[in-house]
Amino acid sequence: MPVAIRPHVFSLYPLDEETIALAERSFRITCPGDEGHELWYTKADGIMVRSQRVTPEDVAKIGPQLKFLGKHGVGVDAIDVKGLSAKGVVVTNTPGVNATAVAELALTLALAVARNVPFIDREIRAGKTITKQAGGEGGMQLTGRTLGLIGGGNIGFTLGKMFHGAFGAKIIVYDPHLSPAMESAWTAAIPSYRRVTSLDDLLPASDVVSVHVPLFDSTRDMIGARELRLMKRSAVLINTARGGIVNEEALAQALDEGVILGAGLDAFSTEPPTLAQFSSLINHPRVVSTPHIGAASLDVISQTAKSVVEHLRDAFAGNIRDEVKL
Ligand code: NAD
Repeated sequence: MPVAIRPHVFSLYPLDEETIALAERSFRITCPGDEGHELWYTKADGIMVRSQRVTPEDVAKIGPQLKFLGKHGVGVDAIDVKGLSAKGVVVTNTPGVNATAVAELALTLALAVARNVPFIDREIRAGKTITKQAGGEGGMQLTGRTLGLIGGGNIGFTLGKMFHGAFGAKIIVYDPHLSPAMESAWTAAIPSYRRVTSLDDLLPASDVVSVHVPLFDSTRDMIGARELRLMKRSAVLINTARGGIVNEEALAQALDEGVILGAGLDAFSTEPPTLAQFSSLINHPRVVSTPHIGAASLDVISQTAKSVVEHLRDAFAGNIRDEVKL
């Protein structure tokens, strides 16, 4: 069915002025707070979605005019992609745009946990005297260590290059679905990187394990008690992907029992994380927590939103890029 010459796109999240100006070149754009925004179900030819949920109930309310959903970022676990596809709605995302920001946060968390900086800082602020010896003894240097990446896509690859460049780290990747393009990128950038075919090969060999896979039914609880026991006692676990991939109860127990050294977490099963819900993790001296800020700096948000606009513009013109198919 032909779409309107100037499609009407509704953004389900607020956009900055530059992104609105870019969108207006190709669409009529309606943002939250604009008159009639609530009519998107039956008026939108395209929608822009960031962290909003699009549930089967939402999909049931969507009219036949909707052609495209542009996802800000990559994770589509909060979107009923199958339901949308069944209605003929094409879902696109923006792979790679926020990879550097998320990789930088993963690196920050790894360093913070390895050198115990947040805990020491908290103790000093609380008026305790921490000597150089006490503050430094539990610290782990990252130079020459081994980084184990679970997921070798855009973020894993960017983090791998950072670790390799900054610390001369050895890089191991577990990613049975790695695309041929990413495989070539890995080989070109870090010829010494090693692919393994199971987590059981990656976990015991890694000093830092960093998770960069989507949340699917098949990746839920991918890191549980058994996997944590396979890790080195000195290892640090980083999850900037999604809550639910690392089993939080098992992680809290492993940390309490000294099964691993510590964890840096930007993803929780309920967000934003609260002390009431996650006290055993958040209160642990060797856990550093952030509320899903990996791609949340204003410049990255704006850059990613512009990429969503460009994806929708191209899709309406017949050039669908980065379609999500489950
Ligand atoms: P990507 O699609 O480029 O890479 C994901 C990789 O995971 C792919 O190479 C894929 O083959 C691999 N994979 C899929 N299933 C796997 C499995 N069962 N075992 C091992 N590997 C598997 O995505 P990306 O840009 O690297 O992002 C990774 C994840 O990070 C996203 O899915 C998203 O959930 C999360 N993310 C978080 C933030 C944040 O703010 N913290 C921001 C962006 C993305």
